[in-house]
Amino acid sequence: MPARSARTSLARLGEFRLIRALSRRFGQAGPGVLQGIGDDAAVIRPSHGTALLLTTDLLVEGIHFDPGLASFEEIGYKAAVANLSDIAAMGGTPQYLLVALAVPPSGTPADIQGLYRGLMQPGRAHRVQLVGGDTSASRAGWFISITLTGSIQPGLALTRAGARVGDLVYVTGTLGDSLAGLCLLKPHGPGRRRPVRGSGAAYLIHRHLRPIPRIKAGRLLATRRLATAAIDLSDGLSGDLTHICERSGVGAEIEAAALPISSALRAYATAHRIDPVELALTGGEDYELLFTVPPRKEQALRQLSQRMACRLSCIGRIRSRAFGLRLNRGNGSPERLVPSGYQHFQHRRLRSTKAGGAR
Ligand code: ADP
Ligand code: MG
Repeated sequence: MPARSARTSLARLGEFRLIRALSRRFGQAGPGVLQGIGDDAAVIRPSHGTALLLTTDLLVEGIHFDPGLASFEEIGYKAAVANLSDIAAMGGTPQYLLVALAVPPSGTPADIQGLYRGLMQPGRAHRVQLVGGDTSASRAGWFISITLTGSIQPGLALTRAGARVGDLVYVTGTLGDSLAGLCLLKPHGPGRRRPVRGSGAAYLIHRHLRPIPRIKAGRLLATRRLATAAIDLSDGLSGDLTHICERSGVGAEIEAAALPISSALRAYATAHRIDPVELALTGGEDYELLFTVPPRKEQALRQLSQRMACRLSCIGRIRSRAFGLRLNRGNGSPERLVPSGYQHFQHRRLRSTKAGGAR
């Protein structure tokens, strides 16, 4: 991108010069890429003996993100994480990225440059390479479509369908931080970002804008054959656990006291008189992994936790389908756990909301 980009309009730069600039700055590709950005399609040498993972995500301004609340770099970063996290949840290694953009009249080359800076950040450690995309004008708002490929040894992919009765239910990291961070960013609906007060608030906002894709953890769970099922937490624990239970034909019992809750979230919940367990169950966009492990593999899992570079918590157990999905609060019989989370096309307002960073 030219140095004067902040003041250069897209109209003056033009589509082709924009793509050339993006390619120069972000499209440097390694040995597996026979043809990167610049031709009608990218040409990739497939890695021998691996299966291909493919995932795509569409982000729409006003639905998934609000440029008033997050910078373009933050929006790009989180958009990449949403895809990296999908590959992590399958147990794979992320590889190639394609980015399709529709840019509204208000969009500038600097916005796009910021977006790509953010997009390339979380995949850098895993050598993710940008190999193509598409660019269009938009009459109403930004549209950002991301496609990410990954690789995995055939037969090792972690699906949502393998959980068995008796398996332990685990999560990485802490839960609910992202939702609290979003609420701190937009206390009174869409608009300008509020100044942040306190280190706890800054931590929660950081967790919302810069979640960590659990690539290492996912890969170890798959290659060591530790997990029977896995999903990434994009919609919230109760909703995403429901996906595992439905696909696996099982139920689950979750222990409220075992849910990993950060001290910042606890403080936030106390200040706002909310039950932190509620935030942990319903908050979306944490991008932690939820997975199931047979008890005989628990020891092996514990031994690997350091290499996974994240906290691991056992939060419950897989039960029969007839048992259903229940939450044990330790004060009587376990109560039914109602799946909640964001669903497009549903006007019913749910606790978790999207437009904040991106997802
Ligand atoms: P076509 O007309 O065949 O779609 P384009 O002119 O749109 O070709 O794209 C030319 C090259 O630039 C292709 O290699 C394409 O993958 C790449 N490209 C286009 N837009 C983007 C973008 N937003 N980000 C990354 N690569 C892009
Ligand atoms: Mg095109």
